[in-house]
Amino acid sequence: MIPHSKTLIRNDSVFFRVFSILFLILAFSLSTGNVFAQRISSVEEEIEGELEILHEDRDVGSRYLYFLKAAGRRLSLNFAKDAPTHLTSGARVRVRGIRTNGVLALQSGGSDSVQVLSSALPNTLGEQRTLVMLVNFADNPSQPWSRDQVNQAIFGTMSAFISENSYGATWLTGDVTSWLTIPLSSSVCDTGALAAQAQQAAQAAGWAPANYQRWIYAFPHNMCGFGGASFVGGSPSQAWLNGEISLRIAGHEFGHGLGLWHSHSMDCGDVSLGSTCTTQEYGDTLDLMGTASTAHFNPFQKERLGWMTPLTVTQSGTYILDAYEFNASALKTLKSIDPTTGARTWYYLEARKPIGFDNTLTYQGMTNGVAIHLGSESSGNTSYMLDMTPNSFANDGLDPTLAAGYSFSDPAAGVTITTDWVTATQAAVTMTVSTNSTPSTSPTVKVATDQPSYTGNQTVSITTTMISGGSPVPGASVTFTITKSSGAIIMANATTGSNGAAVYKLRLKKQDPVGTYQVGAVAKKDALSGSAATNFTVQ
Ligand SMILES: [Zn+2]
Repeated sequence: MIPHSKTLIRNDSVFFRVFSILFLILAFSLSTGNVFAQRISSVEEEIEGELEILHEDRDVGSRYLYFLKAAGRRLSLNFAKDAPTHLTSGARVRVRGIRTNGVLALQSGGSDSVQVLSSALPNTLGEQRTLVMLVNFADNPSQPWSRDQVNQAIFGTMSAFISENSYGATWLTGDVTSWLTIPLSSSVCDTGALAAQAQQAAQAAGWAPANYQRWIYAFPHNMCGFGGASFVGGSPSQAWLNGEISLRIAGHEFGHGLGLWHSHSMDCGDVSLGSTCTTQEYGDTLDLMGTASTAHFNPFQKERLGWMTPLTVTQSGTYILDAYEFNASALKTLKSIDPTTGARTWYYLEARKPIGFDNTLTYQGMTNGVAIHLGSESSGNTSYMLDMTPNSFANDGLDPTLAAGYSFSDPAAGVTITTDWVTATQAAVTMTVSTNSTPSTSPTVKVATDQPSYTGNQTVSITTTMISGGSPVPGASVTFTITKSSGAIIMANATTGSNGAAVYKLRLKKQDPVGTYQVGAVAKKDALSGSAATNFTVQ
């Protein structure tokens, strides 16, 4: 089951935990042991084929499984680290690893182990021809739903959800088969066998699966530990609905089929964004790809699907957001650029209202402000809802939005966001963004203090350096922003010298509050700009 509420997370979790641990032990002893033994005598081999990413949604131990379809075989891909999240099913890849039986062990998902030959074509717009195969088992031929019920759930409710989400760009058509009894036992979990037998049975009963872009298998509860599973992307994409056809499960799996990963949340303790944060896999309470039971996909996800293009804010000013549910209205502004890959990370802003399929967002703190998410171009698996009301205890996560009159600041990015007002249909935000928010080149900017911690009347020496193309940049203007533990902000300017460094000395006073002080530095010279952050403590 997808853990959509705290109660649900607790359901059956002991069972899943035991199951997961047993599975892990088994998988570990099978793969690691063999691979290790094999490595002594084996050499790496290179295989070309089609990537398949299968996701299983579980209470505990949700997982992604990777396969390579090559020359009529299906190899399981085992990544030692960094399994690829920038690809979807259907991508043609060349992988390098060590093969043992049906398992190929790879060093990483990086370019040293996976070479992308062609990405999968996005297939996220227009009519989505879908075949729902109703499947039951030789040892459990029960029929938990009528064909009409399934027809209404998928081609009624879910299609309406997809259509509203995409502002009319995407919808479902298709068919529901009659009940098909397959030889597979309900006491095993084998998604591959279930799919193959279902397709065969559908064909025998007169349907032509090949005529549909998306295949859904709906079946009475079996031994699989997941509520739903799906390919991430793929054509046809395939989804498994285990005993439940609600929008919560079916729509979430359909989102995976379109190519989406989960919508996460980020919790940074006392602040909305800081240096010590934890993330939750399903934590986005405003998104069906997170915890929500019906809510819209967030703007990062919709942008990936080609359903909307958020307005990129590169100039400070006041912007109006219309109700997100019925208007493709969202903003994004640059947070940072990865110095190695050049991939950009963005802030996304939207105004949620409890209308349409967002009518389950019944907590005030979800809709009486502006929702802020982070997302990166580096991977589809980088969507994070930020909490603009940190540390609200039991309600944490239920009041993520930035309410009217409140501000959020990211000094390192040069971004400040203030919600000016919120009505039932709109919200206004005033944004301050770095004047050069899309720099053409990205120099390396660093900031450091001379000590990690200080007492009452010491002086904090803060040094910012700017390096470009391996050389120090003299004459760059540096803005320091120091946020005291009380939230008070000190700003100062300095210019880099011939060594590319600028120093600001902060004299602490006895009455300054103790705690952690955040330091942001933005350095600029002509088209060059960059930022960095650090912190220190006052005891
Ligand atoms: Zn999922």
